Amino acid sequence: MITTDTTLELLKTHFGYRTFRPNQEQIVNDIINGNDVLTIMPTGGGKSVCFQLPALALPGTAIVISPLIALMKDQVDALLTNGISAAYYNSSQEVSVQNDILKQLQDGDLKLIYVAPESLQNLSQYFSEIEISLIAVDEAHCISSWGHDFRPAYTQLGYLKKQFPNKPIAAFTATADGATQQDIITQLNILDAKVHLSSFDRENLYLEVRPGNDRINQIIRFLKTRPDESGIIYCLSRKSTQEVTAKLKKSGFKAKAYHAGLSADQRNSIQESFINDVTPIIVATIAFGMGIDKSNVRWVIHYNMPKNIEGYYQEIGRGGRDGLPAYNILFYSYADVVQLRRFTENASNADYQIAKLNRMQQFAEALSCRRIALLNYFGEHHTENCNNCDVCKSPPRYFDGTILTKKVCSAVYRLKEQESTGMVIDVLRGAQNAQVMGKGYQNIKTYGILHDMSWLDLQQYIIQMLNQGILEIRFHENGRLVLTPLANAILFDDRPVRLATPRKQVQATKSDR
Ligand code: ADP
Ligand code: ZN
Repeated sequence: MITTDTTLELLKTHFGYRTFRPNQEQIVNDIINGNDVLTIMPTGGGKSVCFQLPALALPGTAIVISPLIALMKDQVDALLTNGISAAYYNSSQEVSVQNDILKQLQDGDLKLIYVAPESLQNLSQYFSEIEISLIAVDEAHCISSWGHDFRPAYTQLGYLKKQFPNKPIAAFTATADGATQQDIITQLNILDAKVHLSSFDRENLYLEVRPGNDRINQIIRFLKTRPDESGIIYCLSRKSTQEVTAKLKKSGFKAKAYHAGLSADQRNSIQESFINDVTPIIVATIAFGMGIDKSNVRWVIHYNMPKNIEGYYQEIGRGGRDGLPAYNILFYSYADVVQLRRFTENASNADYQIAKLNRMQQFAEALSCRRIALLNYFGEHHTENCNNCDVCKSPPRYFDGTILTKKVCSAVYRLKEQESTGMVIDVLRGAQNAQVMGKGYQNIKTYGILHDMSWLDLQQYIIQMLNQGILEIRFHENGRLVLTPLANAILFDDRPVRLATPRKQVQATKSDR
């Protein structure tokens, strides 16, 4: 039986760390004692040590299943630097290299072998002939079609428990809600797995949401206050990564676009130049980031809203890995929500994806501490305001919004529930543009009754009304705004409405100047 002293000793001598991070020690002990485990630990939390250390402590070779070649290579390089014998095996290697690795494997010379799930079958025969210490499944959420990075080859991993019934299987992920966790456990056949859920709280990450108008100029103003810092801007489409990059370059920033449409060589060289601080700014689709271990990313900007909170969390988690403050800005606009909804339309699990999207949207619109909202989502219940998010920094003020809401609802009513949010706002503000005049809306009764309110404030109030279930958007019918039964109760039964003073707007203006 291996004692705590010796695991701590191994941690010091082989990895150079003085103490375990939260949960690492328990996970290491569970694995060494032969238990299956499922670990949910945020990115940067220190998952690798949890299986690398038991691999050293136990006799035999550890099989590590990892989805990305770049990720494997980095980890193996790091292990070799620490004097630990390890190798990776995948289909991109030359046969001579593969044979060399197989030889080392057969000779029992490897403490760890990293394998892509697709290559696992090729090695199955070899594994049956040697002593296996444990099996680690990295990025285990890839096994679940509920998850957002589904990898079909992962679904074959269930046979591992059958082939090695007495060896511990340790699954790791940085992102898994309850359903995904259950899916991982069932599919890997590790029903008795000990589950370790680490705190998702990253106190050094400042969280802010801003309205998505005039994003590029907001970004340029932000970047001017942070010269030479490294950061990532996430966009929804390849096209916008290129457009944003071009605009930033024009303003004198060193930025590069990154997306799945580039060749592997191009992508590698961009990654390298980011990691080596040659290119401080990467404008990327979500293709960028998995497996990139860069400690000094000082900010992450979401040019578009991510499609779920898991993605958002994972992406902001790439900032501040060194523990120093990192700044996160999420730009939020209704147009993005509409587009993200369209993306889900043909998906087999569209309802599920839409539910996730709705949660993301609620987060973006939160009028209470964002960190509490985020941690709640991951099942961690905190009550203390964080004081490191935009809402905590400038809490909303509430007022009796009944009259304002009535004005908006009656405009929607008079527009026969046929018009989008933008048109409703234009009509209420008495806009004199061609669309309004063309339809003769200047003649309806509510035209211009909110002429002294800014467009963005009004949009903000309407979002609150949507959130409170007073109005609804028909996404499939040109985004027309319609009334709900609650709206009728407000219009006709004087039901009161509480609204918050638009805060995000104030915040954005303040920090922009
Ligand atoms: P994850 O896989 O969870 O994203 P990693 O295993 O890559 O995290 O670890 C993230 C960082 O934390 C790495 O730079 C690693 O060297 C460091 N780290 C891990 N465990 C410890 C520890 N016990 N003490 C100090 N640093 C650690
Ligand atoms: Zn907060």
